[in-house]
Amino acid sequence: MSRAVDPSRMSDDCIFCSIVAGDIPARTVHETDEVIAFLDANPLARGHTLVIPKAHAKHIGDLNETASGALFAAVTELTPRIQSAVDADGANVGINDGEAAGQEVPHAHVHIIPRFEGDGGAPIHAVGGKRPNLSDDELDEVATAVTAAIDG
Ligand SMILES: [Zn+2]
Repeated sequence: MSRAVDPSRMSDDCIFCSIVAGDIPARTVHETDEVIAFLDANPLARGHTLVIPKAHAKHIGDLNETASGALFAAVTELTPRIQSAVDADGANVGINDGEAAGQEVPHAHVHIIPRFEGDGGAPIHAVGGKRPNLSDDELDEVATAVTAAIDG
């Protein structure tokens, strides 16, 4: 079932925009004017769900305030409900932002991955590479740089 979608909010050749448009089927579990949530087609766990803004944006930082607010409100609402639906013991919530972080579809999306006691998975810390060994001075420099970038 195709949906009427504002073309200015879509990107050609984006699989998630095609799901938003209804041109590619998905197991949709939640939908509002701004976001849609559907089961991951290749789940890491029972109930693995993707929550995406309907408007195309590659990076999480590209989202406008409306899309960002709606996205994180949906994640907040859905995470405990998904856990309940599949009787999970916890969940990992994460975003792969950029190719270096493992982003495969260039349309921002949040993974909600239910976790079960003894499932053999790892905490979100496992996504990091080799840990840097930063001195206190280096940590201070990083904090200064990040603060400047935020307060800009
Ligand atoms: Zn898209």
